[in-house]
Amino acid sequence: MTGSAAVTEVVTLASELIAIDTSNTGDPGVRSNERAAAEYVAEKLAEVGYEPVYVESGAPGRGNVVVRLPGADPSRGALLVHGHLDVVPADAREWSVHPFSGEVRDGYVWGRGAVDMKGMVAMTLAVARAFKRDGVVPPRDIVFAFLADEEAGGFYGARWLVENRPELFEGVTEAISEVGGFSVTLRDGVRAYLVETAEKGVVWLRLRVQGTAGHGSMLHTDNAVAKLAAAVTRLDRHRFPLILTDPVRELLTGVAEITGVPFDEDDPETAVARLGNLARMIGATLRDTANVTMFDAGYKANVVPSEARATVDGRVLPGRERAFEAEIARILGPEIEREWDSLPPVQTTFDGTLVDAMVSAIGVEDPGARVLPYMLSAGTDAKSFQLLGIRHFGFAPLRLPPDLDFSALFHGVDERVPVDALTFGTRVLDRFLRDC
Ligand SMILES: [Zn+2]
Repeated sequence: MTGSAAVTEVVTLASELIAIDTSNTGDPGVRSNERAAAEYVAEKLAEVGYEPVYVESGAPGRGNVVVRLPGADPSRGALLVHGHLDVVPADAREWSVHPFSGEVRDGYVWGRGAVDMKGMVAMTLAVARAFKRDGVVPPRDIVFAFLADEEAGGFYGARWLVENRPELFEGVTEAISEVGGFSVTLRDGVRAYLVETAEKGVVWLRLRVQGTAGHGSMLHTDNAVAKLAAAVTRLDRHRFPLILTDPVRELLTGVAEITGVPFDEDDPETAVARLGNLARMIGATLRDTANVTMFDAGYKANVVPSEARATVDGRVLPGRERAFEAEIARILGPEIEREWDSLPPVQTTFDGTLVDAMVSAIGVEDPGARVLPYMLSAGTDAKSFQLLGIRHFGFAPLRLPPDLDFSALFHGVDERVPVDALTFGTRVLDRFLRDC
């Protein structure tokens, strides 16, 4: 049976990876440490005969591991399979099990990283090991990369490697990684697997406004805190224009075919609302969004401060970058100073031989299922790899129970992944990589 050795060990690998705390706060003052996880991965690869490259990217402990498995046809571009080893922090007091236990209980592997994304890292590692042990030669080169710092922009991981060690990815034309390939149950037992073909762009906006400082007991008409609060409230109430992009249209059309409920192009919001738990995320791909996430001002109850600052997390549809910037300027007004940190959107088409291989691998393991494209509202390391001209898909296959609120598990409390989803995903990944 395809991938049986990989299936046997994937749960142990996932559990052991979760038990290595690789929390990444994104705060430069708190050192993150992926080294132990990177060394674990490198050791598992070396054990079966690989010669993995371990790279510490610009700072101690920020470990990355890259290895190449040569394919049958070196003239074809290579496929990159990448996963990040860091996780967002977790507060153990809020959890039913310890977030860094990797405990296997009630049919799930529990812990921070179970879905984002040590589960997929374990699947990748399991298949890579099985291929080496069994002497499998894939149709083309496969580059496996296990990366640091995705949760803070990849500046010690994907982005650093792309800028400093591009030779590790020489000849890579396409890539797969996280947040795609998971199932949603749309109608009694009919599942659709959503493959990520696009990601919104990221714009982190730092806002600042000046006012007149003074005693809190007196009359004030130029209060920096009040001015900035009013500005971010205007932004919060603003609705950016609704734009039906290709991946969202294809997704909603596919869903309509499966459910038999027609989809009205003039009213995609109604169609999205029918997606249940997924509506929060898919709904955010119908338009740009801008959520205020940090607000900082003042130092004493009776002092009106001279300055207030806020941070806004903006997410922008492909092609909307200029329009978004203009709209933000209009809403905030000239008095609010703005600084931008942006990462570009990612977009490709849902076609070609790699997509055919995904559809066929899922079709064998889950007959009758459909595979549809979608746009991710968030960002991944794909943003860095596209700088090398690499075409990207989110494909980390998982067959999920119909009632699981999958998107809520990302960065959530009691993050966990079904054991059955991991073994299913390993079988799909095994088939897919033999056929890529
Ligand atoms: Zn992730």
